[in-house]
Amino acid sequence: MSQFWSPLVHNLTPYVPGEQPKVDNLIKLNTNENPYPPSDSVINAIKSATDDKLKLYPDPNADILKKRIADYHDLNANQVFVGNGSDEVLAHAFQALLNQDKPLLFPDITYSFYPVYCGLYGIEYKTIPLTDSFEIAVEDYNTECGAIIFPNPNAPTGRLLGLSQIETLLKTHTKQVVIIDEAYIDFGGESAISLVNQYPNLLVTQTLSKSRSLAGLRVGFAVGHADLIEALERVKNSFNSYPLDQLAIYGSVASFDDEEAFQETRTAIIKTREDLTHTLEALGFHVLPSAANFVFACHPKYQAEEIAAQLRKKAIIVRYFNKPRIDQYLRISIGNNSENQALSDALKQIIKN
Ligand SMILES: *Cc1c(COP(=O)(O)O)cnc(C)c1O
Repeated sequence: MSQFWSPLVHNLTPYVPGEQPKVDNLIKLNTNENPYPPSDSVINAIKSATDDKLKLYPDPNADILKKRIADYHDLNANQVFVGNGSDEVLAHAFQALLNQDKPLLFPDITYSFYPVYCGLYGIEYKTIPLTDSFEIAVEDYNTECGAIIFPNPNAPTGRLLGLSQIETLLKTHTKQVVIIDEAYIDFGGESAISLVNQYPNLLVTQTLSKSRSLAGLRVGFAVGHADLIEALERVKNSFNSYPLDQLAIYGSVASFDDEEAFQETRTAIIKTREDLTHTLEALGFHVLPSAANFVFACHPKYQAEEIAAQLRKKAIIVRYFNKPRIDQYLRISIGNNSENQALSDALKQIIKN
């Protein structure tokens, strides 16, 4: 606290990201990063972009990347917005599209950055409870609102909402913007990107941090009607002209060019997720069906917080949220095969039926 702070800063409750420990040899299953490295072609593209052009500002519009993403999804470049991680894309969307006269709706259990952005921009919001089985019921959103946002698959539950349900929501909310945050869609869901040409109120965000192994490069994007994208560009160009540096632009283009590496790691993670789900169930855990690169699980006989503490003693970190409804659950990111084996071995020692 300081007398020099603005009134806004006094009232902020910032987001707390999962920890990034400074020590090596930890098995890190707490922030949903991809356990596989970016492909050689991506690393090489970043290396080649490390040249004397770094003395210049990058392309403020990142045109080659927008065009690459547009081609990949069969859209026009003016339907694509890019930003410094999808967190930044979302931040601009909260200000440009979700800040309306009526409250914004999102689930009671969801990405905890949403209420933080509402606090930053003074957006009124209302949470809609997930069902008892932690599902989004779209009919529960038929209430006065200015806009709607949720992740699909949802975080931290991993549960997927089908495209037909999303379409129902779009049809019943034609006057509101609906944002689908698809940070995890590549791990088993059907993207709503296929609907953006049909629904001018739909914005879909994605990230290169999870399914494309590039959390450290900080690149995210949004696709939607050109008018929605223009709103984001207006906010972006009133804030930072160059959110993507030269290395991020070229590394991201190379990622979309390397479909094989993308498919390979994505498939491996889905396979490991199914293996881990079986292991956890055999140990008595209840595991929510996941379409993401993590599972959300609870054990009827062991406290989640205690399991997390025991795992940490064995140098494995998972995410625990001390929040209503989910304080008996652990969110465990899917690691590579050896990490998954170490996790399974550790859990077998902790859980003694
Ligand atoms: C990880 C995540 C993001 C943000 O990803 P970036 O690394 O900022 O691109 C956005 N939404 C959800 C639900 C996430 O889990």
